[in-house]
Amino acid sequence: MDCLFCKIVSGDIPAQKIYEDDQILAFNDISPQAPVHFLVIPKKHISTLNHLTADDKELAGHILLTAQHLAKESGCEAGFRVVMNCEEHGGQTVYHIHMHVLGKRQMTWPPG
Ligand code: AMP
Ligand code: ZN
Repeated sequence: MDCLFCKIVSGDIPAQKIYEDDQILAFNDISPQAPVHFLVIPKKHISTLNHLTADDKELAGHILLTAQHLAKESGCEAGFRVVMNCEEHGGQTVYHIHMHVLGKRQMTWPPG
């Protein structure tokens, strides 16, 4: 499948991995928008949040808890932000579901 993040999972494209297990992978974003900016992805290809199903409940929870754990490990004790961009209006550019974790700077709201 011609998917950038599937290629990172398979090792065909290199990434700065920070966590890996049999189900998920976390790696630093190539274009960081904060001092801490990494992505947590499932190893299996799910294209968007709209394609998540009830069968993926445990996987989705695992992604969320790993984001929390890695944010702590990355020194985000003052807080952090998680973002999942979904399809066109969400600003999604890579169609393999991913959770952004951003930290170590003050975030603002609302987003642009
Ligand atoms: P999104 O706009 O939510 O789909 O986010 C895609 C993210 O993937 C962006 O923040 C990109 O900087 C990031 N990205 C694209 N290519 C790579 C890559 N080869 N390694 C790590 N991050 C990447
Ligand atoms: Zn994929």
